[in-house]
Amino acid sequence: MRAYVVERFAERLVTEERPAIQPTGTEVVLEVEGCGVCHTDLHLWDGYYELGGGKRLQLADRGIRPPLVLGHEVLGRLVRKGPDAPIDDSAIGRSFIIYPWLGCGKCEDCMLGRENLCAWPNSIGVARAGGYADECLVPHSDYLVDATGIEPNLAATYACSGLTAYSALRKVAIDHDDLLLIVGLGGVGYSGLLIAQALGFRRIVVADIDPRKRDLARGVEGVTVLDPQSEADRAVLAEMGPVAGAVDFVGVTSTAEFAIGSLRKGGIAVIVGLFGGDITLPLVPLVQRSTTVRGSYVGTLDELRELVALAQTGRLAALPVETVPFDDVNDALDRLRGGGVAGRLVLSNSTDAS
Ligand SMILES: [Zn+2]
Ligand SMILES: [Zn+2]
Repeated sequence: MRAYVVERFAERLVTEERPAIQPTGTEVVLEVEGCGVCHTDLHLWDGYYELGGGKRLQLADRGIRPPLVLGHEVLGRLVRKGPDAPIDDSAIGRSFIIYPWLGCGKCEDCMLGRENLCAWPNSIGVARAGGYADECLVPHSDYLVDATGIEPNLAATYACSGLTAYSALRKVAIDHDDLLLIVGLGGVGYSGLLIAQALGFRRIVVADIDPRKRDLARGVEGVTVLDPQSEADRAVLAEMGPVAGAVDFVGVTSTAEFAIGSLRKGGIAVIVGLFGGDITLPLVPLVQRSTTVRGSYVGTLDELRELVALAQTGRLAALPVETVPFDDVNDALDRLRGGGVAGRLVLSNSTDAS
C-alpha cells in the first residue's frame, strides 16, 4: 500500500510503498476512501506550535517525530479485522468514520469516554499512522462510527472539523435566542456555523477578516456576517446586543480578545483555534463580569456519534468540500497554508473526484 510520509519536519511528503497491514487482536484495517486536510496537519508537518511571546511547543519534545503519516479525518471501508475485534463480519466492506482522538485506553479519562483529554494521547494521524495512505490501522473496532447516508468525503470531515466545532458549541450553554458569536470561518468555523444552525441557535453572528470567507457565510440564511476590523461592523454587533457565547475558531491574540471583549456579563468564550498567541486577561473584570473563558480540544467518541446522528437527520447543511487526489497532497497542504481554501480539502481515491 502507498503511504504519504513526513520523513523530516517541514520537508515535502514522500510517497512510500509499505506492506499491507495485518490486524491482530481487536484491531481493524480500513481502506481509506477520503481524508480531510486539517490545519493541525500543517503544525505536525512544521514540527511545532506557536505559543505566543516568541515561544514554540516543539512536537519532538512530546515524542512526535518523523517518519509521520498524517491524516486524522478519515473515512474508510472496513477490509480486515483481528480475531478479537467485536464487530460483525457483515461490517466488512462497509464505510465508517474513524474516531481518531485516542488515549492510553487505561486511565480514568479514557474509562470515562474522554480519550481526547488523556494525558498519554495516541491519536490517529498524530501519534500513530493516519489516513494519508491507502490503509489505516485502528486499534479497536469501537472507534468506527457508521456514516450511512452521509456523502463519504463530507463524512470524513466530521472526525475533526465537525467534531471540534460540535464539542465547542455544546460547551456554549446559552439559550437559543441569545446572541452567539462565531469568530473565524475556516473549515472548522464554517462547520461550526452550520452545526449551530442545526442545533437550533437562532441569533448567530459570524466574523472573519477575509472577505471571501464572509461571502461564503452570506449564503447562509439568517446569519449576520461582519468584518471584525471594521468599526461600522463592530457597531452593528454592539447594536444587536451583548454576546452571550462566543467561539473563537482561530485562536490568535486579536480573535480571542475580540471574542472575550464582546461578551455580556456571565458570558462564555470558548477558544478552539490553534493558530497560537497569548492574551492579557485583567482579573477584576473577569470576576465582576463572571466571565468564563475556556478551551475545547476536538471532542469525545460519544460527541462524534451525536454529530453523525444529527447529520443523518438531514438538518445539518453540508460543509463545502473539494476533493483532491492523494498524489497532490503536498499541493493541498500548500493551499491550506495559503489561506485560500473555502470549506475543506479532502484527499480522495474516488475516481469521480471533482
Ligand atoms: Zn484536525
Ligand atoms: Zn488515557
